[in-house]
Order: sequence, then structure tokens, then C-alpha cells
Amino acid sequence: MLDNLTQRLAKVVKTMRGEARLTEANTAEMLREVRMALLEADVALPAVREFIAKVKEKALGEEVIGSLSPGQALVGVVQREMAALMGADLGPEATQLSFAQQPPAIILMAGLQGVGKTTTVGKLAKYLKEQKKKKVLTVSADVYRPAAIAQLESVTKQVGADFFPSTSTDKPVDIALAALDWARKHYHDVLIIDTAGRLGIDEAMMQEIRAVHGAVKPIETLFVVDAMLGQDAINTAKAFNDALPLTGIVLTKLDGDSRGGAALSVRHVTGKPIKFAGVSEKLDGLEAFDPTRMASRVLG
Ligand code: GDP
Repeated sequence: MLDNLTQRLAKVVKTMRGEARLTEANTAEMLREVRMALLEADVALPAVREFIAKVKEKALGEEVIGSLSPGQALVGVVQREMAALMGADLGPEATQLSFAQQPPAIILMAGLQGVGKTTTVGKLAKYLKEQKKKKVLTVSADVYRPAAIAQLESVTKQVGADFFPSTSTDKPVDIALAALDWARKHYHDVLIIDTAGRLGIDEAMMQEIRAVHGAVKPIETLFVVDAMLGQDAINTAKAFNDALPLTGIVLTKLDGDSRGGAALSVRHVTGKPIKFAGVSEKLDGLEAFDPTRMASRVLG
């Protein structure tokens, strides 16, 4: 079992009791421990560097108050900065979905294959139906895997939302427009569009999802990312963020045992709020993202 950050820093600062301020000298070794802890949590290096620089800037000159040790003072700075980076400063509204003035509000789902996109569509449909009292329609624009369309139909039916059938001979843009037309005619409040994912970044896939985005102009474009993804999360997030005007992130598989360093990497690259966390394979396993809890998890 790895030591948590407080324990790690406690070991380093034994010799520093009685120091009144955090200084370049007394924080350097502690910051190395913070860096190690983040790398062990699978945060990508550029995100680690940016975070350490920010903590250093905030920490220098900070007073070590009362009975606190310099280590504890630094842990305080690290925790505050981490929570801020995870989105604590954005306020609870950051996890809210936007709805169009003129329904249907369109939510476009983006992400690699296997990250949990289709499951998340089912979870979102359930959440919107039960918590927000919305009439929801789902559609799959994944024309490469008929099984994906069937899977979306199944999760949609399980949560009692409406499903717009598509076939793999149709074009994704045509599917999305037909579903939108149907949603308008049948007074749906929300249309969720699931899209094809590939195993890696693929320019054709990006062009396709950009075309769907351009055709239906969603109010929410959610990037779904697997918390277990580790270092790769940064490249994937960058590619999707460059290709699409993302409005939020869904971090899935947080029930796994990863420390979830992907959260920091994705925030670093996109700057977009993480709106939801997937915490189970089941369709009720979706939570509003909690930046402070995530900060503690990543720090260990
Ligand atoms: P897609 O290819 O992105 O549409 O991914 P799927 O929705 O098919 O999900 C891939 C796998 O991840 C399935 O086995 C899901 O049950 C599982 N999954 C999705 N979200 C979660 C989650 O939050 N936690 C866990 N443990 N598994 C999940």
C-alpha cells in the first residue's frame, strides 16, 4: 500500500519543524514527493508539471500557522489547488447540463470505443427522465457496429426512454438529422446522440463526428473518458478537444481501483468541466462530479 501524501510529506519534513514559512528550500523536496504521488496516480507529465508549478507559486511565502508543520501547510496548498483544478472553483453549476430554449436539447457523445459511451447514454437518459422530468430520445450514429445500435436500443428500453432506430447503411449525419426531426415532431425535450468510437484516434472518425456536430449543433458535446485510461488520457482528450467544441467531460469507471489521474490530465488539456462520474456498470451508476472528492483520490 502506498503512503498517502500527508504521510509521504511527514517523512520529508521531520527535519523542518519550527520553520515559519514555506520557502524554496523547504518545499523543494516536498514537491518532489507530490510529483511522485501524481505520477503514481497516472497523471500525464505535462499536467503534473503545470500543477507543481502552480503549487510552488501559491506555497512560497505561505505562513506555517500554529502547530502545523511545513508539510501539513504544503498539503493544505496542494489539496486546495487540486480541488480548484478539478473544478471546485467553478461552483456546483459546472456539473449541470444546459438545455436549449427551443427543445429538443441535443447532447452529442464523443469518445473512444469501450470507454462507456453507450452505457452513459442510458445513464443520462435515466437521470434526465427521473430527476429532470424530461422526455428523452436516443439515437446511435455508430454505423460500423450493428451491435452498438442494438446495445443502445437495449439500454434505452431498460430506462424507459424512446429510441430512434438507425441502420448501418445510413450516413451518421442523416441519422442525426432524422432523429432530430422525429424528436421535434414528437415533443422530446432531449435528444442524445451516441457516436462511433474507435480503438485509437482516427481522423476519419473525427471528421465524421465534426460533421454530425455541424449538422445538429448540440448544446452539449460531452467527451466520455475512462478513468482507468492513465497516461493515454491526455492524447485522447487533446484530439477530441481540438476537433470539437466540447462542453463537458464524463469520467467513467471510477468504481475501478485507479486513482483517476486521468481527471487531472483531461482538465489540464481541455479546461472543460467534468460534469458526471460513472461509478458502476449499472444504469443508475451516474453521479454529479465532485471535485473535492476527486482531488483527495488523486492525491492518495
Ligand atoms: P462504448 O464502446 O464507449 O459505448 O462503451 P460501453 O458503453 O459499451 O461500455 C464498455 C464497457 O464498460 C461495458 O462493459 C460497460 O458495462 C462498462 N462500463 C461503462 N461505464 C462503466 C462504469 O462507470 N463503471 C464500470 N465498472 N463499468 C462501466
